[in-house]
Amino acid sequence: MSTVPATGPHAEPPVPVLPDGLTLKKLTRTIARIKVIWRISLPQAHPHTPPQTDLSEYTNSTPPPSEIDLLATTSGENGVAKANGVNFQPPTDYSHVLLRLRKCLPSSESNLLAYEYLSSVIMPLFPPGVMVGQTLVQVPSKLISRANDTLHDLEESGVRPSHRLNLYLAGDPRPSEQHMEEHYAFLLEDMTPDTSRGEFLLEFKAKWLVQSPNAPVEWKRCRNCALRLRKYAKSLKKGKSADWRGLCPFDLVSGDTKRACNGVKRILGYPRSEDEKLVERVTQALMSCSQLSILKELQAHLDPLGILKANHKSKEFLTAMTLRDCTFFVKVSPTDVQARLGDFDVKSGEGGKSDYWVRVENELISEGWYNGTEEGDFPWKADGLEVVCRV
Ligand SMILES: [Zn+2]
Repeated sequence: MSTVPATGPHAEPPVPVLPDGLTLKKLTRTIARIKVIWRISLPQAHPHTPPQTDLSEYTNSTPPPSEIDLLATTSGENGVAKANGVNFQPPTDYSHVLLRLRKCLPSSESNLLAYEYLSSVIMPLFPPGVMVGQTLVQVPSKLISRANDTLHDLEESGVRPSHRLNLYLAGDPRPSEQHMEEHYAFLLEDMTPDTSRGEFLLEFKAKWLVQSPNAPVEWKRCRNCALRLRKYAKSLKKGKSADWRGLCPFDLVSGDTKRACNGVKRILGYPRSEDEKLVERVTQALMSCSQLSILKELQAHLDPLGILKANHKSKEFLTAMTLRDCTFFVKVSPTDVQARLGDFDVKSGEGGKSDYWVRVENELISEGWYNGTEEGDFPWKADGLEVVCRV
């Protein structure tokens, strides 16, 4: 892989350039908790002939991000991609990385700016091996064109999900395509589990690991549980069914094995939660992983005032909001448990988001969701079911 200086004003040269002859296999995610992924092979030697479609179905979760992922592979090269958090290096073998390309959406941020945010704000907060490894690469327009061809083929064959129809990738120079400039992409550490070896991937958000600084002094519930119950109540009002039970983030950072076990059972879900040895193994791994304690400390340090009093334009507050929304990717194998953090989306508070944060926080307080004094006949009000969170 060659390197050339980046052309963007904010780049730190040199940014590696991907070879344009890579084979692309598309991975698609659904929104469901257990995702169904399709991989499609495109023959690289005859890009203008209709590709033979090689569909494989996978029934496990995929790594981040939510954008379209393309598994980049090359043949004839040896070596293993080094996946080491922030020290993640561009590989010479692509068998352990995913290529993330940008969707052609007006709201999507350029990959260069997204990487600049990650590398200057988020990465310095974590030691190596804590985040999902990722690095910026320059991507040839030919590669993007081929990827868009894949999407067109999927649409024509009716395989592409309806909510993604007419949405293509930025950086395709052909006049027939939607035009949005993009010369960069992300290479990501591939956390896809090898199901043939008994591996599976857990995805969860630890959310608010310390109480909201704006919660009433007499609070009984953490911010996450207060919000979950409020959402449940809203769903009921709309006639929808929902589960009011859920993960209390405080359990995960309690230092108490029994409480952490309860949290892990929520994350594992049924029937894995019935496997005591598995629960114990994942609990021990999460209790000893550095991610939870680092996130907890950072959230407390970066936002001591809370949504109602903080300056919503301050870098510290917005970073705290990003850290409250990042995702844990935990790959569990029969012998190992590997945790990584990903999905560090930039929070700006713009577009009405800031007002939304304030409104939600005020409602949680005034309607009694923190204190457990909310009005309504809810299942948790039955004996022994009260939701009370402890630090
Ligand atoms: Zn809670």
